[in-house]
Amino acid sequence: MSKMTSKRSTRFDAQSVTIAPESDRQRRLRIARLSLDGLSLGDAFGERFFGIERHGGFDTVIADRALPAGPWAWTDDTAMAGCIVETLAAHGHVNQDDLAKRFASCYVAEPDRGYGAGARAALHAIHEGASWREAAGALFDGQGSMGNGGAMRAGPIGAFFADDLDVAAEEARLSAQVTHAHPEGQAGAIAVAVAAAQTVQVHSNRASRFGRYAIEAAIEYTPEGATRAGLIRALRLPFHVDIATAVVALGNGSAVIAADTVPLALWCAARHTDRFEDAMWTTVSARGDRDTTCAIVGSLVALAVGQARLPDEWITRRERLPH
Ligand SMILES: [Mg+2]
Repeated sequence: MSKMTSKRSTRFDAQSVTIAPESDRQRRLRIARLSLDGLSLGDAFGERFFGIERHGGFDTVIADRALPAGPWAWTDDTAMAGCIVETLAAHGHVNQDDLAKRFASCYVAEPDRGYGAGARAALHAIHEGASWREAAGALFDGQGSMGNGGAMRAGPIGAFFADDLDVAAEEARLSAQVTHAHPEGQAGAIAVAVAAAQTVQVHSNRASRFGRYAIEAAIEYTPEGATRAGLIRALRLPFHVDIATAVVALGNGSAVIAADTVPLALWCAARHTDRFEDAMWTTVSARGDRDTTCAIVGSLVALAVGQARLPDEWITRRERLPH
C-alpha cells in the first residue's frame, strides 16, 4: 500500500494535463505507420529466406514455421516506404519533388539495402542533380520502369487516404511516377494503395470477406494492362488452392515487375486477413521476390489485424526502424 502511495505521489495530476485531440493528419499518419510497420516486418522476414534457400532446408523451415534467427535487416522496400510516410507527414500529400529528394538521400546514405539496378541508376542521377522526370524517364531505353518498386511502398499511401479511394489511387500514381515512368509500374502502386484503403474501410465496418473486396476495389481503379489482368485472375482463384498453383496463375515476383508481383500479394493478403503470421508464411513459401511480396502483404494485413496483433517476437527480431 505504501508503495502505491509513493508511486501516486510522483504521478502527474491527471486533471492538470490537457491531452490535445488527435488531429486529422495525426490519425492518418497513425494508420500509415501501422501499414509501414507491417510492411517492414514482411520485408525483413522475407529477405531472410534468400539465404535460407541458398543454404538448403527451405521446405523444412517453411513446414516447421521455424522463425529465422534475428536480427532481420530491412531493405529498400522499407527505406522507400519510410520516405513516403515522411513526405505525407510533412506535406499531407505526395509531394513528388520532396519525395524524390528523400528517396535519393536515403539511397546515398545506405546504397546496400538491396535496391534494383534501375532504382540505383535513377536515384544516383537524382542525387547528382538530375530531375526525377528525366532520371525515371531514362530507364529501360526510355520506356520507364514497370518494376514492382512502386507497389512495394504504396500500402501506407492507401492507409493515409483510406477514406477516399480516388485520392488513394491518384496519390499512389504520383508516388510511383517519381521512379516508375511506365504505366504498369504505376498500376502496381495504384492496386496496392486502393487495396490498403479498402482494407481499412471494410475492416472498420466489420464486414466479412473483406480480402476479396480489397481485390475488387483494386481492379476497379487499376488501369487496363498486365497488372489488372493478373488481379482479375487473383479474384477468381479460390483460397483453397496450394501456393504452387497460385504461383503458376499469378507469378511470384521473380521477374521483379508489378504484373508478376502484385496479383499474388493481394491474393495472399486476402486469403489471410485474420492472422499476420499466416499471411507471411504463405507468402514467403511462394519464393520469388519474397522481401517485396511479403512487404506488400504485410502492409495490407497489418491494417486488417491492427497494431496489437502484429507479433511481438517478429518485432523484436526486425532491425529497428529509423522513422
Ligand atoms: Mg527489397
